[in-house]
Amino acid sequence: MIAGNRTINYLRISVTDRCNFRCKYCIPASPFTVIEHKKIARYEEILKITKLACELGITKVRITGGEPFVRKNIFSFLEKLCAIECLNDVSITTNGSLLTRGKIEKLSYLGIKRLNFSLDTLDPEKFARITGRDRFQRVWESIITSHELGISPVKINAVVLKGINDDEIVDLAALTLDFPFHIRFIEYMPMGDSAVEKGQQMLTQEIKEKIESRFGKLTSVKQTDNDGPAKKFKIAKAQGIIGFITPISSHFCDDCNRLRLTSRGTLRPCLLNNYEKDILNPLRNSASDDELKRIILSALTKKPSFHGLNDLSSKTIPISHMTSIGG
Ligand code: SAM
Ligand code: SF4
Repeated sequence: MIAGNRTINYLRISVTDRCNFRCKYCIPASPFTVIEHKKIARYEEILKITKLACELGITKVRITGGEPFVRKNIFSFLEKLCAIECLNDVSITTNGSLLTRGKIEKLSYLGIKRLNFSLDTLDPEKFARITGRDRFQRVWESIITSHELGISPVKINAVVLKGINDDEIVDLAALTLDFPFHIRFIEYMPMGDSAVEKGQQMLTQEIKEKIESRFGKLTSVKQTDNDGPAKKFKIAKAQGIIGFITPISSHFCDDCNRLRLTSRGTLRPCLLNNYEKDILNPLRNSASDDELKRIILSALTKKPSFHGLNDLSSKTIPISHMTSIGG
């Protein structure tokens, strides 16, 4: 599938808007309601839409949420998803808190070899303050177990916030000395109405300077197909990689190969633009495969050439929060 001069081969599927964590930067500060069950796309509906998207050129899928592992029967869904022939890459983004050794073994058996974990701090108390849950140990165990079981790469996403975890940038980066992890520092995106203030946002240049002042100049690492938007670097003699995800300081819209399917069954061509196209209701109203494919293609015609997050006067500033879209 083509959008402008970009080839779209990556579908990011949010299977739920629910989460067992309450991360400050993600969950809205004001009261919110979760989506009614009947309005959430059923697994068979997600599979149908994915198959049609594959026929149009999607080859890679990432499962996200909310927290994917809070949804019931996720493993039987993942089994069917991994069996879709034209998909050559299925990966998951998770907070890791609900994974066990047995579940990670199952993921590996299904062919899911790449996991992204969210971990913003190595301090259990701070972890509880950021996520609202006392689950550091559980998450850390999932990360280490995934590494032991051959999940590769294990990627760790850390949203850096001033006055919250900026004092741990060096410690997080140092994990790459001992483990072949990809530690990815993400710039906070002001979505919805999270409890984070814009002044707490920390941009990549400053994060990189902190790492270089401790470990010396980082060397740049060649991009591969599975890197997504992360710009990769290495500390000398490190096993792992340091990645920077820079939606604010340097948007990567020109290279964006993604389409999103929200848990409400809408297609969203850009995380940072509120345009969405409903595909679930046409599917429920017996639209033909050709009609559904036309809906997918027409959503892509609305993929913006760049996002308006830096422009405070822009009408495209997202009002949706991350869990309702899928991060
Ligand atoms: N629950 C899973 C998790 O935490 O990995 C998957 C969903 S979460 C929304 C996906 C990613 O979005 C996480 O790595 C999280 O750190 C990131 N994220 C959430 N809110 C963000 C924000 N406002 N700015 C930047 N990244 C954010
Ligand atoms: Fe949940 Fe992930 Fe959002 Fe944290 S970042 S609240 S774990 S969806």
